[in-house]
Amino acid sequence: LLTDSIDAAPFLTDWRGLWHGAALGVALPETPQSVAAIVRWCAQHKVPVVPQGGNTGLSGGATPDGSGAALVLSLKHLDQVRAVDPLNATMTLDAGCLLRTAQRAAEEVGRLLPLSLAAEGSCTIGGNLATNAGGTGVLRYGNARELCLGLEVVTAQGELWDGLRGLRKDNSGYDLRDLFIGSEGTLGVITGAVMKLVPRPAARVAALLAIPSVEAALRLLEEARSRLDTGLTAFEMLSETCLSLVLRHVPTARRPIGTVTPWYVLLELADPNEEDRARAQIEALLVVGLERGWVEDGVIAESLAQSRALWALREDVSDAQGAAGKTIKHDIALPISTIAAFLAEADAAVAARWPQLRFVTFGHLGDGNLHYNFSPAEGDRTADILADQDDLNAFVHDIVVRHGGTISAEHGLGVLRRDEAARFKSPVELAMMHAIKAALDPDGIMNPGKLVP
Ligand SMILES: Cc1cc2nc3c(=O)[nH]c(=O)nc-3n(C[C@H](O)[C@H](O)[C@H](O)COP(=O)(O)OP(=O)(O)OC[C@H]3O[C@@H](n4cnc5c(N)ncnc54)[C@H](O)[C@@H]3O)c2cc1C
Repeated sequence: LLTDSIDAAPFLTDWRGLWHGAALGVALPETPQSVAAIVRWCAQHKVPVVPQGGNTGLSGGATPDGSGAALVLSLKHLDQVRAVDPLNATMTLDAGCLLRTAQRAAEEVGRLLPLSLAAEGSCTIGGNLATNAGGTGVLRYGNARELCLGLEVVTAQGELWDGLRGLRKDNSGYDLRDLFIGSEGTLGVITGAVMKLVPRPAARVAALLAIPSVEAALRLLEEARSRLDTGLTAFEMLSETCLSLVLRHVPTARRPIGTVTPWYVLLELADPNEEDRARAQIEALLVVGLERGWVEDGVIAESLAQSRALWALREDVSDAQGAAGKTIKHDIALPISTIAAFLAEADAAVAARWPQLRFVTFGHLGDGNLHYNFSPAEGDRTADILADQDDLNAFVHDIVVRHGGTISAEHGLGVLRRDEAARFKSPVELAMMHAIKAALDPDGIMNPGKLVP
């Protein structure tokens, strides 16, 4: 238990340094039973509990408020791979196990845990499930929710529920697992999970393609899906502004193709058996794209190192944006068929009202998930663009919802989007959310002030 303010400090501020809180202390239990004992004590004394994994969340969900009344419950020391079952194609993990540790344990038995995000060296399985994390493999394998078969949870009363079932079919009542996934620590503490494994593809080939427009990127996506089907494991998009930011702020980054276009697509194809076949399929897609004017140029990675370098260009966008001054971020998702219309409308409307902003748009296009972000104009690094951000957020979110989208795709609501999300939910949906919260956490001790408006 950390009570010294210097020791506790890293647990009281979020990854981006946007939220700062205070706490009674930081508990670092090592077993599910200790988690249960701590929560039981908190329930008896009505002490709020703020569960925390790797503290990489981007919505302020893992940071306590400023009152100092809460206990931060860090799962960091509950970090073991409990078992790997290659025949059942599952692994059982402590909630505080780092995502990268879990991926490596799967690799050791020749399997793939297909959850992947740029924070994988720091985020935990429990945090991934509590936020229903997405990442770069969603197009092929789904979100964290789709990869989870069972959970172990400490309830708000401090009881341990063993739902660690490795079953692919289980219609034996309400799906409590799915209730805890994505609940951002507001219903209970996840202490363990059974995750699905898939065969490791023999080959993965990445390519970066220069694209003239969003419409062209969407046509290419449609063609890629019909040609490659489940072989297509990623279809990411970034703008020239994003690429320039990475080239400027990441010393190791190099421009991979000479042609400069407004957009780039990073796609990846996996093949269970042969690298040559994957390469041939990407080449054929590139030829079709060039013929139809959807692609202007492209590079296909020749080696794992080249593949990693292409991926780094996409994964380093967030850090590069951070280096370019203050940031405003929107983690939105839309039906893929409305993305072009959304961007046309939102880009024009935002540019007309906030001409000082630079658009930093990128995301998981294959999932309909865009990071619709803004930075200060080039050369104006110190500009404070945040003064008007509530108006801007509401302005963007209204357009998103009008196009059938959501204002939180993969980062959750936390405190950042809690009230904004409530603007778009019907009274009946809000009433059901409040009823679930009241049923499972009647004293409101689980991560109060987060997610539930
Ligand atoms: C560079 C970078 C890239 C990122 N890329 C992506 C991405 O591509 N896709 C994506 O989805 N996210 C992404 N994220 C966001 C973040 O990494 C994910 O939300 C991740 O799943 C959070 O895991 P964590 O262990 O750090 O959780 P934390 O940040 O510690 O917690 C997040 C939320 O979950 C709750 N929580 C944590 N552990 C538990 C538990 N055991 N039981 C109950 N509740 C718990 C917390 O209370 C909080 O509400 C990125 C973040 C960074 C910094």
